[in-house]
Amino acid sequence: MPSLSEETNGAVDMLAPGATIGIVGGGQLGRMMALAAKYMGFRVGTLDPTEDCPTAQVADFQIVADYDDTAAIRELADRSDVLTYEFENVDADALDAVRDRVAIPQGTDLLRVTQNRIAEKTFINDHGIATAPWAPVRNHAELLAALDEIGYPAVLKTAEGGYDGHGQIVLTSADDLEQVWPDDAFPTAILEGFVDFAYEASILVSGNGGDYVTFPVVRNIHCDNILHKTIMPAPMDGAMQQEARALAVELAKGFELAGTLAIELFVCADGTLIVNELAPRPHNSGHYTIEACDFDQYDLHVRGICGWPLAQPQQLTPAAVMVNVLGQHVEPTRAAIADHPEWHVHDYGKAEAKHNRKMGHITVLTDDVERTVAGLDATGCWADITDRG
Ligand code: AMP
Repeated sequence: MPSLSEETNGAVDMLAPGATIGIVGGGQLGRMMALAAKYMGFRVGTLDPTEDCPTAQVADFQIVADYDDTAAIRELADRSDVLTYEFENVDADALDAVRDRVAIPQGTDLLRVTQNRIAEKTFINDHGIATAPWAPVRNHAELLAALDEIGYPAVLKTAEGGYDGHGQIVLTSADDLEQVWPDDAFPTAILEGFVDFAYEASILVSGNGGDYVTFPVVRNIHCDNILHKTIMPAPMDGAMQQEARALAVELAKGFELAGTLAIELFVCADGTLIVNELAPRPHNSGHYTIEACDFDQYDLHVRGICGWPLAQPQQLTPAAVMVNVLGQHVEPTRAAIADHPEWHVHDYGKAEAKHNRKMGHITVLTDDVERTVAGLDATGCWADITDRG
């Protein structure tokens, strides 16, 4: 049993290969974490309600149960040496309840903060880092008061449970107030000033025990609030890259991070960096690291939670483009594989290709982003995406 340290939020002594990593959640992020863990010789278990989920297909065992099933979490804890999670909507109380049975190096503070936009924005601002202007709101009176301060346009977001734009209402004028929930169904929410960003970006930070390393800043292109494409590197100068890396390390230190944390940014035309949100885990926009960096975000997550030392990851290619394969892109991309030996094809092994469901991704290493993006677009596989960047 690894020793838990209060001071380091539960960091473990170096876990030896052969130890078992339990992953709460069995989606694609867990699958790629498991693949990294497997080549390092760890055993992997996952807890997920869907039998033969993406992670289970590459893991040693699966416990088929809901994420908040406390008996199942206890079983996973008892069969594991270290516990982690691949998505943030995990029941933090249920994890706290097994902290005496298994190491949870990420702790649950990180989870609680990133599950709630009020706690998250407060944490970010308390560390001297900029967000959009924001205010907590619980009813129409508070919303109107916040709009007086922040002004239109603004975005109203539920404090908890929102993802990929769900639970968000853009308010451009008082006419849009009709779309807002009635007072008796008003969730705890935040009002955020609308940021007129030049582009969206993200950065990953990994580590443990106070030593943190960062990956290059990347540019992200969304369509319908779902990530479509990531381009590494982001079109920013060295000073801005350094600023992004510094804020990422500052946040990691604040959380006493063990593992990988993703930070989503808005980059403004005047060069200002604004943090949009945090993900306490590897991130879709970091898939490119698998081929484009010597250590990828999953390697460093596993090393971080297992108490291994981390080296600063090195970029192996001048640039890379990662494109998501959603349900509607599965058929055309599969048909195109034969013509694209340069594609690094990832398929998550999901049974059903629903519209907008993340089914896989493709990464292309390049020294000419424009040509590569044009080539991907020319395949017609992503014809439904309106903003292809
Ligand atoms: P979120 O769930 O907070 O990541 O928001 C989803 C997407 O909505 C972001 O990736 C942005 O494209 C957009 N968005 C969210 N908040 C703002 C904001 N304050 N200003 C402008 N766009 C926003």
